[in-house]
Amino acid sequence: MIGRAVRLRWGSATDVGQLRSVNQDSMLVGPGIFVVADGMGGHQGGEVASALAIETVSDRSFGPDVGELVTAVEDANETVFERSTQDPSLSGMGTTFVGIAIVEVDGEERLGIVNVGDSRAYQLTGGQLHQITDDHSLVGELVRDGRLSREDARTHPQKNIVTRAVGIDERVEVDDFVVIPYTGDRYLLCSDGLTDEVEERDIAVVLRTIEDPDEAARELVRRANEHGGRDNITIVIVDVVDAGGVAPPVPDADDFSESDDDTQTFLAVPDDRAHEQGSPASAQRSDDELNDLLDGARDHSEPKPQRAVTVRSVAFVVVVLGLLGAGAYLVNDYARNTYHVIIDDSGEVSIYRGRAGGVLWFDPSLEERTGIEAADVPATFRDRLTDGVNQADRPAAERYVANLEDRIEALAPPVTTTTSSTTAPTTTTQPG
Ligand code: MN
Repeated sequence: MIGRAVRLRWGSATDVGQLRSVNQDSMLVGPGIFVVADGMGGHQGGEVASALAIETVSDRSFGPDVGELVTAVEDANETVFERSTQDPSLSGMGTTFVGIAIVEVDGEERLGIVNVGDSRAYQLTGGQLHQITDDHSLVGELVRDGRLSREDARTHPQKNIVTRAVGIDERVEVDDFVVIPYTGDRYLLCSDGLTDEVEERDIAVVLRTIEDPDEAARELVRRANEHGGRDNITIVIVDVVDAGGVAPPVPDADDFSESDDDTQTFLAVPDDRAHEQGSPASAQRSDDELNDLLDGARDHSEPKPQRAVTVRSVAFVVVVLGLLGAGAYLVNDYARNTYHVIIDDSGEVSIYRGRAGGVLWFDPSLEERTGIEAADVPATFRDRLTDGVNQADRPAAERYVANLEDRIEALAPPVTTTTSSTTAPTTTTQPG
């Protein structure tokens, strides 16, 4: 294509994992484009979605421009979406899509990166591993908002809820950016079956120490399986063997201060070195634009509103995104620092932390069972307690229960004769 071509070397591995019966991940491995797609959807939906997306991209001849790479992903979106509307058994299927391809910017070869969903692209440079894509997931949003630590995000119960995917709506919003290839840099594309099981520091160790990309990919799969292998695992590793005439970067103080800090990995600027080099690619993106890029889905969606989507829980994320705009901070406090008293599924009056019915992803947690059976609750309290009565704090909830006990005691007949229940004493005769 151009005189001083970038030379790449690559390797890959994919595995069903230890628990799943089918591998719904798909991958596309070279020569000019590399993709990992993690399919989602019941029956065969996930497999079909990821395979179809990759087929669409590989069949399509796209030019060297990153815009055409984005168009290819949009075409994949259309293909998957159309198939899902035609075949009811595939309804709702979708897939993540993270890809790297050689693109051309001002006559120079660069690496274009596109991303939709929570599969990831990492860059290993100077021994440091940086995630260079944003996760389009609920927990990804929380991490970017500073509401959740990166470590807690790995084990969060809602970590699998994605906020963007290919094929679940007519339109898709694709993140794209360009990085300068430097000789010796290594790129990793992976599905969450790796990152949910293996810590980033361990991923970095493997990428640093195993030179052969195929071997490194297999070792990462092995480690993910060793840690549980609860999901399909797919790895594509791309090494820049020859940057095609791009001079190696000149590190400066800024470069070191950032890369030495592990907590900065999530905020790694995709083409930060390009920026420092003052190259053509860096000139395209101001600091503000970079910040926008790092801010992720919400900021992107402002100028170009797009329906929020989720594979596993549509209504859920629609509500969440709306509220993120309204102030996730307040919502969090509101949801957590409230208590409620309720007759729960156990049939017993209980105190829960959190709002009755829950708020967003903050499910109420049980604090105390009071020993008061539903059958003993006076009719005037019963309706409200069935729905749950919110109280400002724990002492208030306890006062409410004490008041309820007083009322029950006042109403209790001197002798209870029930045949239907063996555990229905009044509160004045605690069992045991
Ligand atoms: Mn997965």
